Amino acid sequence: MSSDPKYLLKEEEVAVQAVLLACSLTLKVFHRLVKGDVQIKDDKTPVTVADLASQAIISRLLLQAFPFDPLVGEEDSDDLRLPSSALLRERVTSLVTETLTEAKLPVGEGQEWEETLLEAIDRGGKFEGGMGRFWTCDPIDGTKGFVRGDQFAVCLALIEGGKTILSVIGCPNMLVDPTDEKGPKGVVFVARKGHGAYMHPTTLPHTRTTLRIRSLGPDTPLLESYDPHHSDQALSARAAELLGITVPPMQIDSQAKYCELCRGGGGLFFRVRLPRGKVFEEKIWDHAPGSLLVTESGGCISTLEGEEITFGTGRVFRSTGIFASHRWSHEKVLKMVRAASEAE
Ligand code: AMP
Ligand code: MG
Repeated sequence: MSSDPKYLLKEEEVAVQAVLLACSLTLKVFHRLVKGDVQIKDDKTPVTVADLASQAIISRLLLQAFPFDPLVGEEDSDDLRLPSSALLRERVTSLVTETLTEAKLPVGEGQEWEETLLEAIDRGGKFEGGMGRFWTCDPIDGTKGFVRGDQFAVCLALIEGGKTILSVIGCPNMLVDPTDEKGPKGVVFVARKGHGAYMHPTTLPHTRTTLRIRSLGPDTPLLESYDPHHSDQALSARAAELLGITVPPMQIDSQAKYCELCRGGGGLFFRVRLPRGKVFEEKIWDHAPGSLLVTESGGCISTLEGEEITFGTGRVFRSTGIFASHRWSHEKVLKMVRAASEAE
């Protein structure tokens, strides 16, 4: 029962640990492979290594704690199993081994251990989701932000009956204090259905701050994709004007947008894919983690028609647009976005 104070506490503990380990693993890759060697910047390998190793570590920890829970993950190990991928396999395995060892968690060795990790990746790539209880993860959401040294997120959600019941999102490059540009980076965001949402730094001490979305005002920026191909930035500019927002939009890769909204850094999350009017398939792992964060921080998330978004339809759901804001502002947001799209 979600009214029980202990509801999903074990799940929360394991999910936070898995996301924190995946965050530290992705930063290792960034410092060694992306930043360390300019030559490799256009090469997809570092991203692939980080993506696969992040999914492997999350899947492994979940499997050990909850052996009966399936996982829907963005990656599978098909390419990794090719004979030509021996070096990639070795890199993924050694990265996971190193990260688990640092955390004083058990690891294996040799061929058997490599196979264990391949199977851990694979179970996420094959499961089709549905209405039962399962986890979904995006091991690196915002890969372009990751390569740029900008925002990216490690995202994990537990879904039941098509709704998210637990969310953990790690943002390794997010400032702990947005007003202190030289200060530490790395924040993890957590929401448990019926029990609110909080954030804490990825490093110790894990001092918690309750998340609260601000109601929309002239100084609350609109949050949208960094990539102009991912969302209609012309429409969002018109909507922001109609809503009386006077500050420029924040364009951020990944579900770090939802996180920024929930910690009071913005007034609305806006996503209208291009070409406008077409129905697209969105991946459940791109929005299931962010959605509970929004509702547990005092917000609403919906389509333009105000319909709830659900994640029980398989690995994808159909969408014409996704909007999130404080629950007091949401009706006005939807009304003004409709007005902006009709004003063309
Ligand atoms: P964002 O970080 O908001 O730009 O969205 C990132 C997510 O958008 C990725 O994880 C992809 O699943 C998804 N995506 C990929 N290509 C497109 C596209 N052409 N339009 C919209 N979303 C996309
Ligand atoms: Mg993604």
